[in-house]
Amino acid sequence: MAQGTLYIISAPSGAGKSSLIQAMLKTQPLYDTQVSISHTTREMRPGEQHGEHYYFVSKQGFEAMIEQDAFLEHAEVFGNYYGTSREAIDQVLATGVDVFLDIDWQGAQQIRQKLPTARSIFVLPPSKEELDRRLRGRGQDSEEVIARRMAQAVAEMSHYAEYDYLIVNDDFDLALSDLKTIIRAERLRMGRQKARHDALISKLLAD
Ligand code: 5GP
Repeated sequence: MAQGTLYIISAPSGAGKSSLIQAMLKTQPLYDTQVSISHTTREMRPGEQHGEHYYFVSKQGFEAMIEQDAFLEHAEVFGNYYGTSREAIDQVLATGVDVFLDIDWQGAQQIRQKLPTARSIFVLPPSKEELDRRLRGRGQDSEEVIARRMAQAVAEMSHYAEYDYLIVNDDFDLALSDLKTIIRAERLRMGRQKARHDALISKLLAD
């Protein structure tokens, strides 16, 4: 059985990354693709569930996991810890399932170092105006908060060129199709195909 592919997907908030991942998952059976659930020390937001969106842990709990070398990567993002636990990823990849990591550029750099076969995708918004509009959300935040979000978005976007693939999320359906095309092309690579069609290839090449 060929190993699944590990994908890293990063974007500034407001680029539509979460919607793209959710839409992609709806068209892929679980035995093909999964999204890794990270650990975080940030507060749970309304509507979020422990074990579904994140594993919400205390700062001490997170630091204990760092000590135990439980993370494949971890980083501090906007004042909170976020990390990908090693355990879940290795087991799932071994069964041939592709795993998506929705992580920031710092985590992406750590994963590339440790697992050079990982593929990375960066999602950009279509324009600065649109990003500004999305970062304003429901219009309840101060200009200072919005300016801070924009500065964070620009800092994240400055790392786009470190990634293998770039998707500009202007037309959502097109961006989704781009994401699926990347996954499809990676599945057609020789290593994966050779393992999948082993029996066929043996028969075709037999005298
Ligand atoms: P949020 O708090 O809005 O869910 O996520 C904030 C940022 O943290 C996003 O850019 C997201 O990709 C990143 N993030 C989420 N989980 C992880 C993780 O496990 N590791 C790293 N390095 N970043 C993460």
